[in-house]
Amino acid sequence: MTFAPLKLHPSLLSGVKDLGFATPSPIQAESIPPAMEGRDVLACAMTGSGKTAAFLLPILHRLLTRPRGVTRALILSPTRELAAQTVEEMNGLAIHTPLTAAAIIGGVGMGPQEHAFRSGVDVLVATPGRLLDHLKQSYAKLDKIEHLVLDEADRMLDMGFLPDIKRVLKLVPSKRQTLFFSATMPAPIVQLTKEMLVNPVTINLARKAAPAVGITQAVYPVAQELKSMLLLELLNRGLMQEALVFTRTKHRANRLWEFLDKRGISVARIHGNRSQAQRTDALAGFKEGRYRVLVATDIAARGIDVEELGHVVNFDVPMASEDYIHRVGRTARAQMTGEAFTFMSREEESDIRNIERAVGKALPRVTLPDFDYNARPTAKLEIPIAERLAAHRAQRNKGRDRQQGGGGRPGSGGGRSGGSGRGGSSQSGSSRSGSAPRSDHPSGPKPSGLRGRRGGGRGGR
Ligand code: AMP
Repeated sequence: MTFAPLKLHPSLLSGVKDLGFATPSPIQAESIPPAMEGRDVLACAMTGSGKTAAFLLPILHRLLTRPRGVTRALILSPTRELAAQTVEEMNGLAIHTPLTAAAIIGGVGMGPQEHAFRSGVDVLVATPGRLLDHLKQSYAKLDKIEHLVLDEADRMLDMGFLPDIKRVLKLVPSKRQTLFFSATMPAPIVQLTKEMLVNPVTINLARKAAPAVGITQAVYPVAQELKSMLLLELLNRGLMQEALVFTRTKHRANRLWEFLDKRGISVARIHGNRSQAQRTDALAGFKEGRYRVLVATDIAARGIDVEELGHVVNFDVPMASEDYIHRVGRTARAQMTGEAFTFMSREEESDIRNIERAVGKALPRVTLPDFDYNARPTAKLEIPIAERLAAHRAQRNKGRDRQQGGGGRPGSGGGRSGGSGRGGSSQSGSSRSGSAPRSDHPSGPKPSGLRGRRGGGRGGR
């Protein structure tokens, strides 16, 4: 089947053709006709299924029949990257139309976004936090919205956006079309669909949670301390040309970036402490092939769409099986083939078993021939938090001693090694909660160090 029977506006068909879409993906074939009629849609679709065009095309089709100059469509996205990518796809699909879109996202100036509100761009693609920031001002109104999309609703839930979404819902007209997309349907999401949708057409293409087709998945059992060496070896032997590598924490992402950079691998990184300019450069550079490796924390997993990406590496086993499925979905999008390698230390074996249960199959274990699995690690990737705190405390005490002429405060106790402070527990460095996922929150409070560094993004390396 081609796109022709869908009876989309000819200008949109030209855009579809320009993007090289020959046949509608299953989600597009199922959701575009009812959405073009104005029905609400509830779609449970896998990542990489073509869902973005599935909601954009019918909305754009309907907008082409309406007067312009008023914002009539709002798309809510969980991350800045996904929002930016949706605007990019919209610009591609609408290239032969006068329709316009703007991203309303954190990490960049409010000014141009205010202008987008004031000028009434046709489509706003927004992350909830920044959208609410604008809505405090009188220029920002959503009272003319006719089409509302909730994209990756389950991820919004994971990121704690549900209260924000409910706040936004109060500001859009109740008479509207709603298109609701989610890869999984946990109970709070089911509840939200009941609040948001009226007699929806339900499309369930992800009956069983499973990564996109065409992916070869493998698990590499390896000691925690040797993971970076193994990754380097896979790259050096040419077993991976390029790779998107996920680490559990921002700290580990930084250390791995440093490790690879020192060894001559062109590498970039994306995580919550990087400015928007740095993230944009990292992603663009990786897409263009300037960087062979992109190291990212989970935040990047949803938004990144890198065509023909060969390899995803889970440097750490994701704790939630949904995260595994979403990450692995970065590769083999739109029917291409790719490989997903997961490095598993002994402590992570039970997490892998959970993932295997969720995807409904055992993942093969693989060893790299001639790799020294008993090698002594060069350096620890992550300094255990207790050690970091102790070093910090020692440093502070040293400064204080110096200030007081070496006298020391009576009763300060010194406490250098006495374990009087907190953090004395030596519970190894694996502290999973050490860097909570929320710290990667794209529109959460900015780390103070980033303030006032606008525009200096490229200098960060
Ligand atoms: P999405 O699930 O919307 O993130 O889309 C995944 C990828 O598939 C994106 O790179 C889209 O540009 C691409 N894509 C979407 N629809 C089609 C189609 N009908 N044919 C080929 N590629 C598509």
